[in-house]
Amino acid sequence: MNILVTGGAGFIGGHLAERFAADGHDVVVLDNFDPFYAIDIKRHNVEAGRQAASASDGSYELVEGDVRDADLVADLVAGADHVYHQAAQAGVRPSVEDPRKYDEVNVDGTLNLLDACRDEGVERFVMASSSSVYGVPQYLPYDEEHPTTPVSPYGASKLAAERYAIAYSEVYDFPAVALRYFTVYGPRMRPNMAISNFVSRCLDGEPPIIYGDGTQTRDFTYIEDVVEANVTLLEEDAADGEVLNVGSTDNIAIKALAEEIRDQLAPELELVYEARHDADAEHTHADTTKAGELLGYDPDHTIREGVGKFVEWYRENRDWYEPLVRGS
Ligand code: NAD
Repeated sequence: MNILVTGGAGFIGGHLAERFAADGHDVVVLDNFDPFYAIDIKRHNVEAGRQAASASDGSYELVEGDVRDADLVADLVAGADHVYHQAAQAGVRPSVEDPRKYDEVNVDGTLNLLDACRDEGVERFVMASSSSVYGVPQYLPYDEEHPTTPVSPYGASKLAAERYAIAYSEVYDFPAVALRYFTVYGPRMRPNMAISNFVSRCLDGEPPIIYGDGTQTRDFTYIEDVVEANVTLLEEDAADGEVLNVGSTDNIAIKALAEEIRDQLAPELELVYEARHDADAEHTHADTTKAGELLGYDPDHTIREGVGKFVEWYRENRDWYEPLVRGS
């Protein structure tokens, strides 16, 4: 199949492109190498995709460009059977500094893709949404019926994009699915996220820094589980027109996560606490029943297993990854 992965040089898109190429598909990646974090991490994502294609019957093409470029997007969608839209300006805290950019990339960029999908016809449009659309929890775990009241410009932009995708799907009659990811982690993950920070600091003999008192809880979702949900959507149509939570098996407080990583890597270190950021969610927790029913989604990495795999990968790739993750 011909698969367009926007944001395919990023963390999640990079893993999707790699998997699709390894499975023998013809993959085109659209990414503008936004300097939000170290671009060399993105080069490694691209290299992984190229290697996967060279070891299979698949192919891999990188197009450096912007989802805000409607003509380019239309050209690329015209050659695609499936579109996996992962490109976004990510990051809750920076969205408070520059909300307009989040609107332009996350909302207008998504509309460019949706216009092209409407005009060209695609087998399915799958987009990355976020647990940030929920905002302040009225109950936990969040199911998809939970009110959506995002508390950051980032969350608002992801909600707008997701609603456009579902509305286009209904009005223009093409299959679209939005997956609400809950804090994804794993090899080549972004810097400035709790797990990459904690691991790199502990391995360097520096204490993990917790923002707030560490009682905030999160679903941490291992990247392989996220990839499986997306791969299922190449064939499965049961979720067309739907929004689904893609979370993890267990929910953990940031403090407990820091202790788990510290105990595995550097038990002598004391945790350090700094001021919490207001835009950060206090608690997120996914009810994944719907994704289980419609996609057979069954995340099977506990936090201990996932962190263990990430640490193993980190040690093997420390020479190139650590300077990038620490320098970003
Ligand atoms: P990422 O920043 O690693 O990947 C996003 C990619 O999009 C980057 O490579 C970036 O260069 C590219 N990009 C940004 N602006 C672009 C533009 N204008 N045109 C083309 N490409 C552009 O982030 P990620 O963690 O891989 O996230 C992927 C998707 O998943 C995003 O849509 C994000 O909102 C969503 N998401 C991620 C998480 C998570 O925990 N990582 C959680 C919830 C939702």
